[in-house]
Amino acid sequence: MTNSYLVKHSKQFPKGIIKLSEGCWTAVGYAASNVHMIEGRNSVSIIDTSESIGAARNILAEFKNLSSKPISRIIYSHGHRDHISGARVFYDGTQEIITSHKFTSDLVNVGGESTAPSLALKKRTEAQFGMGLDSKDRINIGCGPANRPMEGLGQGFIQPTTFIEKDQDINLDGIGARLIHAPGETEDHIVVWLPEKKLLFCGDNWYHSFPNLYAIRGTAYRDYGKWADSLEFLANLNADILAPGHTLPQFGSEKIREMLSSTRKMILFLMEKTTEGLNAGIPLDDIVTTLELPEDLSSKPWLKEFYGKLSWSARAYATGTLGWYDGNPTNLGTIGTVERAELMVDLAGGIEEIWNATKATPNLQWKLELCDILISLGQPAEKTKAETMRTLADDEINATARNAYLWEAKRLDQGK
Ligand SMILES: [Zn+2]
Repeated sequence: MTNSYLVKHSKQFPKGIIKLSEGCWTAVGYAASNVHMIEGRNSVSIIDTSESIGAARNILAEFKNLSSKPISRIIYSHGHRDHISGARVFYDGTQEIITSHKFTSDLVNVGGESTAPSLALKKRTEAQFGMGLDSKDRINIGCGPANRPMEGLGQGFIQPTTFIEKDQDINLDGIGARLIHAPGETEDHIVVWLPEKKLLFCGDNWYHSFPNLYAIRGTAYRDYGKWADSLEFLANLNADILAPGHTLPQFGSEKIREMLSSTRKMILFLMEKTTEGLNAGIPLDDIVTTLELPEDLSSKPWLKEFYGKLSWSARAYATGTLGWYDGNPTNLGTIGTVERAELMVDLAGGIEEIWNATKATPNLQWKLELCDILISLGQPAEKTKAETMRTLADDEINATARNAYLWEAKRLDQGK
């Protein structure tokens, strides 16, 4: 394994409970996502619940060492499975579970994104997170640790009881808080702002990595413009403490403002450059292979592509705003993969020539594409493809790409 950058990124989610402010804590590194606790006069409030019953139990045990007060409410920052699937552990059957009226979830049978082809989504989720990979291959998942409890994964969700339609002040048993709609990674995001402590729980609208503007597990277009607007709003709160849904909390108003503002600036840059390219009629493949962040953005440690990725995000922006058609009438028609492969063989002068080119090329992306041609014609190129993906994974700083390469390589090795 040569990927030292991604190994270092694991320092963003060391397992432990971190004190944010008097009576406020966050549990980092127990699960893919963080769980937060706010202690009031006679009870505590919980923000998000992790992805599994096993992780939630471990977190609750730690929280009980800090406060023995009962849990009076649970708040879901948004509906993604990694934030709502440990609720049953914190829930006693009586508490309020508060979230946005736009609440939707990617958990199957809960609504929202579950209308996507669920088997494809499940398989791609497993690949993105490297589920089932050998421990030697697992570094992290970009937004959290690879090694974490899988017991009760996705099984502890409890339906929300209270849906807020407008931003509103709420009394967390003596602690003043404001619940604010802030669409970003999802349309249904709410953030929790404690003005007296200047403490902001921002959900997944910011974490210490390039944002997951597009998730390769499969996701509908995430509205980049709204996400950028929300980041501007959050930056202007001038929080002293920022507790994100993934990665370590941040302290210091200037630094937090810079983190939120530069992430917004990056999103706007990406939108602007992709739009410029599309307006100039530049093919999307050429837009995504030439797009680069300016140095003042690429140098930010929190914009490194450990979780999201610039090229994927530009592609998702183009297809999210204009759909799949790229304006070139050539692409109004389609040639299927087998027919295309047969045409390539004809062009190359025989299948042996495709094999020779596959073995000879130093371009690993091209090697994968040639392997796909061979495999589509029933040629035994699976081993070559698996080896190529493992080589790519070694130098890939994006955890989800790395996991997907290794997951698919393992599947091919097993003859699936
Ligand atoms: Zn999340």
